[in-house]
Amino acid sequence: MDPNRHEVSLARPIDGNLLRVCNLTVSYRLGPAYESTALKQVSFTVNCAEIVGLLGESGCGKSTTALALMQMLPANARISMGSIQLDGCNLLSMKEDRLRRLRGSETSIVYQDSETLNPMMRVGNQVMEVLRAHKPAKTAQMRDEIYSIFAALGLKDCDRIYRAFPHQLSGGQRRRVAIAQALICKPRLVIADEPTSSLDSEATTGILDIFRQLRATHNTAILLISHDPETLRAADRLLVMYAGEIVESGPLNEVFEHPAHPYTRALLQCSTRQAAPPMFGVNRHSLACIPGEPPDPCEVLPGCGFSPRCSNRAEICDSLRPRLFEISGVHSARCLQYEARE
Ligand code: SF4
Repeated sequence: MDPNRHEVSLARPIDGNLLRVCNLTVSYRLGPAYESTALKQVSFTVNCAEIVGLLGESGCGKSTTALALMQMLPANARISMGSIQLDGCNLLSMKEDRLRRLRGSETSIVYQDSETLNPMMRVGNQVMEVLRAHKPAKTAQMRDEIYSIFAALGLKDCDRIYRAFPHQLSGGQRRRVAIAQALICKPRLVIADEPTSSLDSEATTGILDIFRQLRATHNTAILLISHDPETLRAADRLLVMYAGEIVESGPLNEVFEHPAHPYTRALLQCSTRQAAPPMFGVNRHSLACIPGEPPDPCEVLPGCGFSPRCSNRAEICDSLRPRLFEISGVHSARCLQYEARE
């Protein structure tokens, strides 16, 4: 057993779930009298070696989910309900020093903002710091590991990149260094929040390939977060989030081919990329965006939050909150259309 992993190793999952999130509810204090609810009773699981996609518009709660999973929410955030279990250990009751050891070794996050690198430090040393903190070895050995992950991420001139300061690299190179930093200790769970935003298609493909390789070689589980369905094509299973709630979940191919929730259908149609893979089943050359705005997170609505924007809206939708309805054993949607079928 690796002695450096021993300190923070967790009990093996009993049911195959590496991560189990149950009824997670998070709000932000916006002033003495205002609180906005960012996540409403969010529940999902991620299995070992599974890639789960989390899809939704900006501001729907995806990044709050990522930060809550890492226990890195800002000071004005409050978890009012729920639990987050990693290998059966509740992260919400874990002491900060144990959480610190866990981050980087067992779990890590790839941020959508690659400007998290220290501008005053050579990037190779920044990756080395993570390795030294969690998996120390001889310097030459750690450097070899860093070169190898740089090469795998398409950073070809490893020596130059290793010695460079962040400002000497392109945005895409900085992003890949930040990803190398998150993956270098081969964590069991990677949370990747918009990891490919603003990257070209070659870099995007390379990064998604790295995630797949990591899963294949180290059983790493990945929560892949994006507003772009195309980025999530690497996932096995998809969760769709709207206004802080999971509104649809199911196997990726099934959700893409037969989206059950009107929001998912609208999101897939909104994707502006020109090269539509056949799985979408829609012509992306003539697509429009979802009209309207998400509901005010400070308001508690009596009915469905998607109602003002929904092309399938019925009268009851404004007065009754939909629950998640099971469409098949593995596919569910939060929409009253399915209530009549139960
Ligand atoms: S519950 Fe009604 S308004 Fe909400 S998504 Fe379903 S059909 Fe549309």
